[in-house]
Amino acid sequence: MVKLNQLSWLKSACNIFAKQLAEDTMPHAQLLGIEQGYGAELLLEHLSSLALCNKPINGEACNFCHSCQLTAAGTHPDLHIIKPDGQQIKVDQIRHLCRALANTSQQGGKRIAVIYECEKMNVAAANALLKTLEEPGRDTLLFLQTSSPSLLMATISSRCQEIAVHLPSKDELNVWLQQNSQVSGDMTWAMPIVGGPLNLIESATSGYYQTLLSYRKDWSQSLMEGHLCTSFLDIDEKEIVDILDVLYLVLRQFVLQNKYADPLLQANIIKLASEVMTIRQRLSLMSNVNATGLCQQIILKYRHLTNH
Ligand SMILES: [Zn+2]
Repeated sequence: MVKLNQLSWLKSACNIFAKQLAEDTMPHAQLLGIEQGYGAELLLEHLSSLALCNKPINGEACNFCHSCQLTAAGTHPDLHIIKPDGQQIKVDQIRHLCRALANTSQQGGKRIAVIYECEKMNVAAANALLKTLEEPGRDTLLFLQTSSPSLLMATISSRCQEIAVHLPSKDELNVWLQQNSQVSGDMTWAMPIVGGPLNLIESATSGYYQTLLSYRKDWSQSLMEGHLCTSFLDIDEKEIVDILDVLYLVLRQFVLQNKYADPLLQANIIKLASEVMTIRQRLSLMSNVNATGLCQQIILKYRHLTNH
């Protein structure tokens, strides 16, 4: 399990928050615009427990007081956590939250609301939150998290102060991943499929990353030889989504590496990559997918384009 103190890119956000808390200058509504895979949940758990702790020490929760014990047990009555119910955060969830925040705090300290994936609030839910966002009442803090700040309604984002996080560069991530996983070699290529660095570590532990890596190797070989390698001859509907995701990345990488000298061919490979994406998106609508057949068709197109 990755711990917060391993995530160097979140350190300054922790420090700023601890300072604001000590000086009582904290904005009452804060927006964290980073993916869960970069440690959003670890950060918000840390900030919530620090804000609720009765005796923080050097910008850290004491882990000892009654409040800390309640937080650790997940039963703190003044900590309200909202996550999407299915694909949406619904108006009832937000109304319930606002009512709870309007009551006096049960432990005599702060009241905290954490809303994960807040871009999934439907319009009614977002509207129901506006008043509380503007006037949350004394000693109330709201944390909103989103992986896609651009999808958030302006009425919401304009009422929040953003928690500044400088995400690591690809090179920095690479170093970090080498230090924190058992995998050697660049893992960042799989991030579009798996998610952020924490997801990558998890996928390496579960063996999922290694599966993706073998798909990548098999696709490179298949494309080079102009026919599907044997491991793709026996694949099923469960595997095909990942296999097509990996193919898309392999084709894109070929293009980025200027593998094809001819600009027309280059353009056609980009077109083929987007066709792969379209097929992948349509998979959920297709019944009885012939996974191997799909891959055969793609390799034939590729062969045709490259005159194998
Ligand atoms: Zn404490």
